[in-house]
Amino acid sequence: MFRALLRLLGIVLSLAMFAAVLLTVRALRLPSRQITAPPAPVRVVDADAAARRLAAAIRIRTISYSADAADLQADAFAAFARWLTESYPKLHETLALERVSEHSLVYTWAGADPSLAPLVLLAHQDVVPAENEELWSQPPFAGTIADGIVWGRGAVDDKGSLIAICEAVETLLGEGFTPQRTVILAFGHDEEVGGPNGAVRVAETLAARGVRAALVLDEGFALLEPGTLPGFERLVAPIGVAEKGFATLQLVARAAGGHSSTPPRNTATVAIARAVVRLDESPMPVSVGGVTGAFFHWLAPELPLHLRVPLANLDVFARPLDWAAGGQPAINALLRTTTAVTMLSGSPKDNVLPVEATAAVNFRILPGQTAEEVLARTRQVVGNPELEVRFQRAPRDPSPVSPSDGPAFTLLQRTLAELHPSAVVAPALVVGGTDARHYTPIADAIYRFAPFRFGADDIKLPHGIDERIAVDNLADGIRFYARLIENASTIPGL
Ligand SMILES: [Zn+2]
Repeated sequence: MFRALLRLLGIVLSLAMFAAVLLTVRALRLPSRQITAPPAPVRVVDADAAARRLAAAIRIRTISYSADAADLQADAFAAFARWLTESYPKLHETLALERVSEHSLVYTWAGADPSLAPLVLLAHQDVVPAENEELWSQPPFAGTIADGIVWGRGAVDDKGSLIAICEAVETLLGEGFTPQRTVILAFGHDEEVGGPNGAVRVAETLAARGVRAALVLDEGFALLEPGTLPGFERLVAPIGVAEKGFATLQLVARAAGGHSSTPPRNTATVAIARAVVRLDESPMPVSVGGVTGAFFHWLAPELPLHLRVPLANLDVFARPLDWAAGGQPAINALLRTTTAVTMLSGSPKDNVLPVEATAAVNFRILPGQTAEEVLARTRQVVGNPELEVRFQRAPRDPSPVSPSDGPAFTLLQRTLAELHPSAVVAPALVVGGTDARHYTPIADAIYRFAPFRFGADDIKLPHGIDERIAVDNLADGIRFYARLIENASTIPGL
């Protein structure tokens, strides 16, 4: 008996050791996807002047309140366009400007070789409102510069990018640079409300003209400071190759209503509550393939072995990772279509039984799944045919996935390697929405990355309190866009 147990233990231990060796070998065989490049010459930029212009841009209140045309701050957008004209004279002298839906601005810098597909750089002029102004360290629309920091709404989302792009173009023109490849700058005016009159119309306009872009670059990720991602003591540059879809489902339960002194067994509110609990207890399955799988596989070879083994063997470690992600919403959002119950309603009075109770459930959909599939699965999980489940508003499927190889991705990777040699690049999934998705008709290579350094605390700056950017961070962003435009003319095969 004892001997049999020992033998069994021996077998189990050997198997475990064999598995550990196998997983380690797999991890060690995963090749690094990073590239090296000779450092780019350090470009002279007037960082203080750029910071003053960003501060001035922040002062113009180009706020998007809603997609409703009546809420459009037309005067502010007109003032912003005028201010751009005054602030970037060389740009406005050389690039052709056209207006789409009046306030979206599209600049074309004609390349010397018209046979090359254009480089398209996106940024948006509009910002979200600044609530809780009294909580800000500096007023959100004052455009204050203090101790090397530019403060205000839009400093990073997304006037930082817009100004950095304009500064880069103005700098290159000052250097006498002419691009081989046409460069298009497209600055939408309603990104924060979904881009219906901005990005959607600009992309339509370009598509109607037969434009096929070599690369579209928009906001999305940033250059993450060492320590921002657990385990990384180097910069990490996640490049958004796709963005999640969006669907809000409304659950509706109907009942006879009546007085609450004689309630029946199952009221509409109880039916909704049951459905909500079921959805909460049945999260969407974890997916470790696709973009998220690629993200971890690009990171794994750059990590010490104890972290490399689980990331290189996600098929085996998906469950522990999911368990570990239980307390980490940011990781959870990369692994699955997320479920968030956001609104509940019942009877309007405490002694009245509801004739109708509702819940709104917001899903952010992983590439590979569709909004229709989310609807079908939700009906199945709720398991109550009496309860209506419908889209509350038009859903949006996930974006297509842009390639993580090929000349366009290499262009970004090489530009980063030249300017930030220690940075680890990885394709990644954007969990929010950007204007970039609207450009699907004109490009396969659509990327979401802004070249500014972000620390762990900076993640909450976009749409948050005390939005700000350091002047030297802005200067590095200008250098990135300038180098990208230069490199776009020389990368073969693009
Ligand atoms: Zn934005």
